[in-house]
Amino acid sequence: MKILLLILLAAAPAFPQEKPIEVRLYSLHKFPAVELESDGVSVFVGERLLKGRGRITARGNLVALDSDIKAGGARIEATAYGKGVWLSGKGLPRRLYRGKLTFSARNGKLKIINSLPLETYLSGVVSAEASDLSQREACRAQAVAARTYTLTHMYNHIKEGYNMCDSSHCQLYPGLGEIQPKAQEAADSTRGELLYYRGAPADAFYHSACGGHTAVMTDVWPFEHRKYLVSVRDGPAGKPYCSIAPGFYWKTQIYYSGLTRIARGAGWISSGEEATGLRISAWGASGRAAKLEIYTQVRRVTVPATEFYHGVGRRAGWQAVRSSFFKIYSGKDHVILEGAGSGHGVGMCQWGAEGMARKGFSYRAILQHYYPGTEIIK
Ligand SMILES: [Zn+2]
Ligand SMILES: [Zn+2]
Repeated sequence: MKILLLILLAAAPAFPQEKPIEVRLYSLHKFPAVELESDGVSVFVGERLLKGRGRITARGNLVALDSDIKAGGARIEATAYGKGVWLSGKGLPRRLYRGKLTFSARNGKLKIINSLPLETYLSGVVSAEASDLSQREACRAQAVAARTYTLTHMYNHIKEGYNMCDSSHCQLYPGLGEIQPKAQEAADSTRGELLYYRGAPADAFYHSACGGHTAVMTDVWPFEHRKYLVSVRDGPAGKPYCSIAPGFYWKTQIYYSGLTRIARGAGWISSGEEATGLRISAWGASGRAAKLEIYTQVRRVTVPATEFYHGVGRRAGWQAVRSSFFKIYSGKDHVILEGAGSGHGVGMCQWGAEGMARKGFSYRAILQHYYPGTEIIK
């Protein structure tokens, strides 16, 4: 018996993508309760079958289920087979999930972790991340990039007890309720394919639109240099592949009063200081701003461009400063930022992939363009 078991284990697929992935659901929401709808599918809570609807509520650090079955304690585990279970609730979009769901609570707020096979997760990610893309080859490039990114970033939230969150911090995962056929095709036709660089899966970062040149990763984050995350010119000069992106060129006016509020909120200046100017003091290899200086009545404060981009995004919305690829024009009481592209600029440019695919490039050529020197391994 023991020998047979060993043989079975040895024959089991060794690919890491066969491992389930644990994703935190509704990670940007704070909520005390969630509804489960099991119509037409089998949802088990522990060993028992849930009929119809149920409601899981946080009670301090415990959870309780009210339905035809009563359950509660430190955690509730449910498993949804078949099509999946619909979750919804006050302030929560209604979404379909499949696999194991673990509900727990902390200080009256629910935490939901979904454990599901990587390829199922991927069809949801590609559907959300490539929702604006129309080209088959662009969606396939997105599928390989997202699959590889998942493997190399599985430890993003390991200290919090799961692998990935479902927001753009990791990758968008709005469940399985609206899987687009093009996304499913992309995930299926590239099943198991990963980007490798010199024998190891690549850090396959991607973003919306680079603005003409992708960013060197080390200009954006203080991580170890990766040879394939360098600045790539995205298509012919003056006509980048990603120029088809809606809102590719953007312009934002920021009054010094608004800049003061943002800079105080972010802790760049103190509460007694007023912002009186803003300039770029250093540029990265791709032409993006690398460092900015905020002037006040008394001093100049240097802020890394990535921190500025995130600081403004969090306080004034992500549409205000869409990337760190911009120029600054100063007025009397304001500055105007004129920029191109959106997102951090590292790795694959999603709109550039779409532009390349429209010109007839294959997903392999697209991946080779944005991650030079990598290879696809199945
Ligand atoms: Zn995350
Ligand atoms: Zn681009």
